[in-house]
Amino acid sequence: MSSIELKNISKRYKGEKRYALSNVDLQIKDGEIVTLLGPSGCGKTTTLRLIAGFEKPESGTIRFGNEYIVDDNTFIPPQKRGVGMVFQDYALFPHLTVYENISFGMKKDKDLSSKMQSVLHLVKLSGLEKRYPSELSGGQQQRVALARALIRSPKVILFDEPFSNLDTDLRTTMRGEIVSIIKKTKSTAIFVTHDQKEAMAISDRVIVMNNGFVEQIGTPKEIFEKPKNKFVAEFIGFSNIFKGKINNNILSCDFTDINIENKENMSGQVYFSIKPSGIRINDEGNLSGVVRSTSYFGDYLEVFISYITKDKEILDLVCYEDPSKDLKVGDSVRFSIDKDKIVIWKE
Ligand code: ADP
Ligand code: MG
Repeated sequence: MSSIELKNISKRYKGEKRYALSNVDLQIKDGEIVTLLGPSGCGKTTTLRLIAGFEKPESGTIRFGNEYIVDDNTFIPPQKRGVGMVFQDYALFPHLTVYENISFGMKKDKDLSSKMQSVLHLVKLSGLEKRYPSELSGGQQQRVALARALIRSPKVILFDEPFSNLDTDLRTTMRGEIVSIIKKTKSTAIFVTHDQKEAMAISDRVIVMNNGFVEQIGTPKEIFEKPKNKFVAEFIGFSNIFKGKINNNILSCDFTDINIENKENMSGQVYFSIKPSGIRINDEGNLSGVVRSTSYFGDYLEVFISYITKDKEILDLVCYEDPSKDLKVGDSVRFSIDKDKIVIWKE
């Protein structure tokens, strides 16, 4: 258990011109669960490998608590860092039992057997210690991998895409279980995922990365309420993103002018997103369009409305409607936009 700080970390792999990471700054609190979120190739695994000690940065420092693990004159090797890792494929030894996998390389003493009992209990594998990995389900194998990390009382546990080999139902269960075990043991944990829903579900804070840079760090709520830029907004699933211009509290774009009562005193060129729940189909609406498609999702109806802009371009807006509404493809509709459901950022 430890806080972790990366300062100004840059990394280029041998023979590569491109930086895999550029000036990354991160601070993770003791006992915090954070997730590195971003598209494939953005530098998530590289960040984990630098923290674990499998890679050396070109520049920058890494600190666990008050101890420098990496600086100009220091490079603590991986086995001395007290880092636990849980890999996507669990990396269990097939010819070793659960007990042997968990205790691999540890001294077989009294202390081990008492630790083993408590860790097996914690990950709900008591009674299965003599089984081989091939005799376990995917979820159980993952618990072995977690137990193997936990029994060493690591300062931090790193998880690289740990749920991607599990099917959807099991994934939801396992992520709940793993988060509760991490919280129970007060461990500091860093997850990597490219799945925004997963990141939001498990993390105290999310670190959104793109192209070797950190784009935004915040709680799931902060990131959803105020994505810092268009990339973050798109990546976390915002729709209806448009270019606009603000002048005297009026947001103007291709298809309408909206009085936004500009609380943040923004002006000039901006990007903005209208939440799907902020577009309401109603007869009094000031805008008109045509229903292009509808998808029924039980709690809501997702409707795409095609709208013709001043420049005669067709624009699709997505909105969520009451599923009992009788809307058909081709229907002409009127709709309005709720200014409180607009998120704006400077680009
Ligand atoms: P992510 O985990 O987010 O998918 P990575 O950290 O694996 O991304 O990769 C970041 C960048 O570094 C990518 O451009 C990738 O191609 C490159 N990269 C990763 N590992 C190596 C390596 N061993 N040698 C050269 N380039 C690498
Ligand atoms: Mg990766």
